[in-house]
Amino acid sequence: MAASGTGLGAPDPNLGVAPENLVIIGSGPAGYTAAIYAARANLNPLLITGFQVGGIAGGQLMTTTHVENFPGFPDGILGPELMDRMKSQAVRWGTRLLEADAEGLDLSQRPYRIRVEGQTIISQSLILATGASANRLGIADEDRFWSRGISACAICDGATPQFRNAQLAVVGGGDSACEEAVYLTKYGSKVHLIVRGARLRASAAMADRVRANPAITVHWHRQVIGVAPEPGDGNWLGAITLGDPTGGSSETLPVRGLFYAIGHTPNTQLMRDQLALDPRGYLITRAGHPETSLEGVYAAGDVADAEWRQGITAAASGCQAALAAERWLSAQGLALTVPRAEVEPKSLGEPVQTPVSDGDNYDPVALWQKGGYALRKLYHDSNRPLLVVYSSPSCGPCHVLKPQLKRVLKELEGRAQGVEIDIETDQDIAEQAGVTGTPTVQLFLNKELKQQWKGVKQRSEFLQAIDALLNPSS
Ligand code: NDP
Repeated sequence: MAASGTGLGAPDPNLGVAPENLVIIGSGPAGYTAAIYAARANLNPLLITGFQVGGIAGGQLMTTTHVENFPGFPDGILGPELMDRMKSQAVRWGTRLLEADAEGLDLSQRPYRIRVEGQTIISQSLILATGASANRLGIADEDRFWSRGISACAICDGATPQFRNAQLAVVGGGDSACEEAVYLTKYGSKVHLIVRGARLRASAAMADRVRANPAITVHWHRQVIGVAPEPGDGNWLGAITLGDPTGGSSETLPVRGLFYAIGHTPNTQLMRDQLALDPRGYLITRAGHPETSLEGVYAAGDVADAEWRQGITAAASGCQAALAAERWLSAQGLALTVPRAEVEPKSLGEPVQTPVSDGDNYDPVALWQKGGYALRKLYHDSNRPLLVVYSSPSCGPCHVLKPQLKRVLKELEGRAQGVEIDIETDQDIAEQAGVTGTPTVQLFLNKELKQQWKGVKQRSEFLQAIDALLNPSS
C-alpha cells in the first residue's frame, strides 16, 4: 500500500495528514487515463484501485478476451493485458497506487475525506471512476450453484474441467453475451444463448459471429426461471428451466454451465445522498463534461455513463476529468505540484513472463515457478508451505491475484513457495485438484491440503494462513 499521509501542504489539525491534490477512485480505463494525465501534470495523484467491492481491480476489461475496438492495437489485445499496460503507464509517470477498496466518502467538507483500510485520506479534488458491476438474475438456488455451474464470467471460468464437452448456456443479448457464447464454444459441446426478447442488442459484427457459429443455438423470448442439480451427489448444476415471458410453455435444458451477461449496475454506493444520481444510480454530469454536482469532484467512465460504456469512451472521460481537476485546482490556488525526479521516466519495457519449469530450469528454492513439473517436485520434496494458484490465460482476476501472491512470498523471504498452474495446459492436474473456477488457490504443507480459496482475496488472508503453518503454537 502507498503510505497514507503522503499528501502535500499543511496537515489537517484533526487528522494529522496533509491533503492530496487529487485522489482517483477506480482502476479501469477511466481511472488509469485520469492518472496518466494528472501524473504528467505533476499533480502526484493517488489512485485507489479497488479490490473486491464493485468487481475486480482493472474493471470490466479484466473479464473480457480480445478487445478489438481500442485504437492502436490492429490485431486486438487481451483485456487484462490492455489494463496491465495502462497501469504501468500510470505508474511510470508517478501515480501512487493504493490496492484497496475505498470504504467511505465524506463530501460534506473540503478537503474531501476518503476512508481506506481504516485510515482517512483527505484530498482537494476527486475523480470517481468506480465503474459498474455485473448483474445477477436472483433466481432460487443461484447461491447454491454459484461457482458450481453458475458464473458471471465465462472468460474467467470457461476453461474449468467441468465445462469441457458439456452443454452450456449464456443469458443476455448484448455484446458480452455474444462474446461469451462464442468463447464458450471452445470448451462446451453446445452453447445455448438465452435472449429475453426478439433481438440481439449486440453490435452487428458480434451478432454475425453468433449467427455464423453452428455450435450456438439462440433461444428467443426465453428467461431462465429455475436451476436444478445434476443427478448423483447434486453439487453441480445439471439443468436450467426456461420460461416464456409472453406466456408460452417452459422447457428444460441439460446444461452444466450457466453464464450471466445481463448488464451492469453503477458502483455509486459510496456517493449515495452526497452527489446527484439518476434513477438508475448513475452519477449525473452535464453531457460531455466530467463535473458532478459538487465542486472539485469529477466523474469518469461507466459510473456516469449508461449509454456508451466503451473502454475508449471511459478512457476519454478520464482524460477530461483529469484536465478539469487540474484547471480547477489551479484556479483555486490549491495545486501543489511535485516535479518528478527524472524528467524522462525510465522505460518499463515488455512484461516478463514466468517460464514453465522443466528438468533443466527447475529451481528447488525459487519463490515462484510455473507448471506441472515444478508442482510435482515441490509437492513431494519441499517441507515448506506451498501456494498453488490455478489460473487461465484470459482470467482477469488471476492477473490481479498473482502479483499479490508473489508479494506475500517475497515478504516471507523464502519460508514458503508458489507454483502457478495454467488449467488449459494442465487440464488433468486441475481436474485432479477439483478446481471449479479460476483463480483457485490451494495451500499445501507436507503433501496435505491445508486451505483453499476461490477468487481474489486480500494478501493478509494468505499471509495469516501461511503464518499459522509456520508458527503452529503462536
Ligand atoms: P448490455 O446492457 O449491452 O446488454 C445486457 C443484455 O442483457 C441485454 O440483451 C438485456 O436484454 C439482457 N438482460 C438484462 N437483464 C436481463 C434479465 N434480467 N434477464 C435476461 N436478460 C437480461 O450489457 P453488455 O455487458 O453486453 O455490454 C455493456 C457494454 O459493453 C456495451 O456498450 C457493449 O457494447 C460493450 N461491450 C463490448 C464488447 C466488445 O466490443 N468486445 C464486449 C462486451 C461488451 P434486452 O436487450 O432485452 O434489454
